[in-house]
Amino acid sequence: MAQIIPIPALRDNYIWLVREGGNAAVVDPGDAAPVQAYLDRAGLTLTAIVITHHHWDHVNGIAGLLARFPIPVYGPARESIPGRTHPLAEGDTIAVPGVGLELSVLDVPGHTAAQLAYVGTNNGQSITFTGDTLFACGCGRLFEGTPAQMVTSLSKLAALPGDTQVYCGHEYTLANLHFALAVEPGNVALTERLAREQGKRGRGLPTLPSAMADERATNPFLRAGEPAVFAAAQAHAGRRLADAVEAFATLREWKNGFT
Ligand SMILES: [Zn+2]
Repeated sequence: MAQIIPIPALRDNYIWLVREGGNAAVVDPGDAAPVQAYLDRAGLTLTAIVITHHHWDHVNGIAGLLARFPIPVYGPARESIPGRTHPLAEGDTIAVPGVGLELSVLDVPGHTAAQLAYVGTNNGQSITFTGDTLFACGCGRLFEGTPAQMVTSLSKLAALPGDTQVYCGHEYTLANLHFALAVEPGNVALTERLAREQGKRGRGLPTLPSAMADERATNPFLRAGEPAVFAAAQAHAGRRLADAVEAFATLREWKNGFT
């Protein structure tokens, strides 16, 4: 059974380190230094790098790590990933070398044009690495994709089992929860979640991973079709919205300007 450990990096990124015995694989190393430091401290050998998308804060550590460890780099086939040895797309599966983890690949475009998410099982527990597609109580900005693409991508993730542990790329949870409460102030699950996550941050702990059931109950971007969320989006837009995709697009724009 592998341990999955958050390595805080850059401003608010998490690099996920999958540790099994004396080996480790990392997901989205945006910076090599904190990974090197962890490997040295724990006496681990790096055996693989897994990438969700091409943004600098997810890939800038690849070259530094490859200089020390000549290892496979898995990443989206249709994005430019430095050092990538294994181009992937939906339907592919990978056995991550050295750490006993098998992952299947989902195409989740929206934040970037060809972002991937990885889904697997660790110690009987369903897990997913979602990059900047699904965040705890939020989702990534639409830099390269359309609202319709992102809604489809998020729906694939939301369909995973409720106990699936969600490992995403950033610690944005508290800001996301404040936005979610502005959208859906009557959602008791949200109020409870805010208290819970504030407690973790108060103790200096990551809020991640989150559980998919909590995302379905509280994440407004998975709930655009729920009557209360749809009504809030419509009120914010000041016009009738045709469907959940329009409601999602309204929520995404609302969040972009929300402080
Ligand atoms: Zn990104």
